[in-house]
Amino acid sequence: MLAYTYVEKGRFELLDKPKPSLADERDAIVRVTLASVCTSDLHIKHGSVPRAVPGVTVGHEMVGVVDEVGSAVKNVRPGDRVTVNVETFCGGCFFCRRGWVNNCTDANGGWALGCRIDGGQAEYVRVPFADTGLNKIPDSVTDAQALFVGDILATGFWAAKISEISAGDTVLIIGAGPTGICTLQCVRLHSPGRVIVCEKDPARADFVRRHYPDADVVPPERAEEYVRSVTGRGGADRVIEAAGTDETFALAWKSARPNAIVTVVALYDGPQTLPLPDMYGKNLTFKTGGVDGCDCDEILSLIKRGRLDTTPLITHTFDIKNIARAYDLFESRSGGVIKTAITFG
Ligand SMILES: [Zn+2]
Ligand SMILES: [Zn+2]
Repeated sequence: MLAYTYVEKGRFELLDKPKPSLADERDAIVRVTLASVCTSDLHIKHGSVPRAVPGVTVGHEMVGVVDEVGSAVKNVRPGDRVTVNVETFCGGCFFCRRGWVNNCTDANGGWALGCRIDGGQAEYVRVPFADTGLNKIPDSVTDAQALFVGDILATGFWAAKISEISAGDTVLIIGAGPTGICTLQCVRLHSPGRVIVCEKDPARADFVRRHYPDADVVPPERAEEYVRSVTGRGGADRVIEAAGTDETFALAWKSARPNAIVTVVALYDGPQTLPLPDMYGKNLTFKTGGVDGCDCDEILSLIKRGRLDTTPLITHTFDIKNIARAYDLFESRSGGVIKTAITFG
């Protein structure tokens, strides 16, 4: 089967590999029907994910059809259409039982697929702990509608949830990349009074204006002042930082009102400064990221009911044979690309 593979730093190649087989009674084999390319895949390509194993098949955002299950798998059967969770988690350890599945203590716990074990930019993928790693897609939901459920949409849903948004709150979202846009959709489920999106890229800002006309869009240099002026209470009630630069980290806490919650889902290249003397008296609560992706059934139900729709994010589609082009386009951020999807045959 064709499998896009991390060969060495800077080099991915489409290789012919054997179809994976069950390695544990809790495994499932999934035939991938639609996959996509994530910023984390680019981080592997550039060598900035030390845990990534050369030779591994990359890709951790995909949907498919269950092909085979181990004898201990209870929740899915061959033929079921499923979303695949980016996170591998056992469901039974101290952290899993509390919903903190990102911290699952299993050897493969956390982000393993397409990083430490073979992932889903391939015709088939082996999914460990299939009962927690797979969620059935309702019949009326398409593959395209479900594509982001296991990764960026799970992240947006979780970010909105842990931000404890109350009805009427002003929420500032920093960064309108794919994760920021998923976060925007999920924030709207909590009935905020106003959502402000800070984005410096004009194409991405336009995308938000076109698809979410009820959100205010501001560039970073105007964001802090704008948020202050429209709230009249020193800043936003909730700030979600989904951009990941030194400037946006500072912007996040500066734009928050006293006693706000600042949720950081972005991944930074380096350490950030927390200038406690400057923020003394602001009494902020910080929450930091690493999605706990255990709400996928609820997300699929929201998609089914028309409350979430991330299909506009799929701006380009390529066959697996042309996956290198999908990467090039995604990385270049040209041509209005938000996300590239990968089809199989
Ligand atoms: Zn990802
Ligand atoms: Zn666990």
